[in-house]
Amino acid sequence: MSGQTNLQEQSREERFLREKFSDFYSRAPITVRSLEKREFGFGGWDKKIEFRHISETSEPNLRARLVRDAPLYVSHSVAYYEFPDARPMTKKNWLSSDLIFDLDADGSACGNKCGKFTCQKCLDAVKQDAIKLIEEFLVPDFGFSRDEMSVNFSGSRGYHVHVFSESVAQLDREARREIADYIGGVGLDFGRLFWNEGKKFLGPSPTQGGFGGKFARAFVSKLSDDSFAISIARKLKKPEERAKLISAIERGNYDNVGIANREKKLFDNFEKMRLTMAGRIDSNVTADTSKLIRMQNSLHGGSGMLAKSVKSLDSFEPMRQAPVFGNTPLKIKASEAVPALNICDYSFGPIPAGETRELPVHSAVYLLCKKAAALA
Ligand SMILES: [Zn+2]
Repeated sequence: MSGQTNLQEQSREERFLREKFSDFYSRAPITVRSLEKREFGFGGWDKKIEFRHISETSEPNLRARLVRDAPLYVSHSVAYYEFPDARPMTKKNWLSSDLIFDLDADGSACGNKCGKFTCQKCLDAVKQDAIKLIEEFLVPDFGFSRDEMSVNFSGSRGYHVHVFSESVAQLDREARREIADYIGGVGLDFGRLFWNEGKKFLGPSPTQGGFGGKFARAFVSKLSDDSFAISIARKLKKPEERAKLISAIERGNYDNVGIANREKKLFDNFEKMRLTMAGRIDSNVTADTSKLIRMQNSLHGGSGMLAKSVKSLDSFEPMRQAPVFGNTPLKIKASEAVPALNICDYSFGPIPAGETRELPVHSAVYLLCKKAAALA
């Protein structure tokens, strides 16, 4: 039996949110590729997935269920199955899976200061990671085309990149993990990219594929910075020496100017340039061919924001574009200290614990979903 928890067990806040969510789903666009082959999972106030092994045959039926049950989280399988509601898992008869990358703000951009109210710095950093994943890995290294990919804001503090390419649909867990490991730079041996040949120190050229080419391009681009060039060799202060080195690197020769301690300098710079996505994509998610992932354009019960399909990452601003609930005023009482926030260009806070405020409903819903406020 799937559905809502007993109405009497629901708090006022949960009932209020479910009503808002239900109303939203009555008119929201629902776009799930091959919906009838997906397993769905729904979550509530306490768990992101309370019910799973659910299937729906059509978009109107899914919509009717979302309106009726008003789940606080809606997920579907990355897999396509012959029998999506069968259990145990082996009876579903797996057909294929999308390839998924899950990027989450980890708090490192602000020194872990923001906690549950993800700050702008952290949101910006994870957006740059998503751009980097696509522009520096998925397109050039794997050859996926942009129309085989979709990017969704997670609805909270990250992004999900979906690849629908036929070329990866049948890959098993091990092959998917290898892809994630490559992007993470797992087992990358920088020492194998360079070798000595007589007086020359040879390595990758900027036109080369993989991490070698990434390093060569990043290194050449950094040489335009004076202090960086001087840190490699004093004589690179002179533009003509720098030009000489750059044209040699284009032929894969990293030292025609006499760089003291060259191997160590190049190795150290490789570490510093953050060419890999090490630690920033969750390889367990990519490897999991039966993972349930947030449905595109569904609401995230931990923020009340939309897991919005993003067409242009560069210009996407989650705190401005992902809230959906408008600005009718609503009174809430902070149950914990709320920091200064800006949602849909409305600035509010800090709000001390225990104080009451009237806020636009998009901001009130955000605090209720964060469990940082109650209805006043
Ligand atoms: Zn932060």
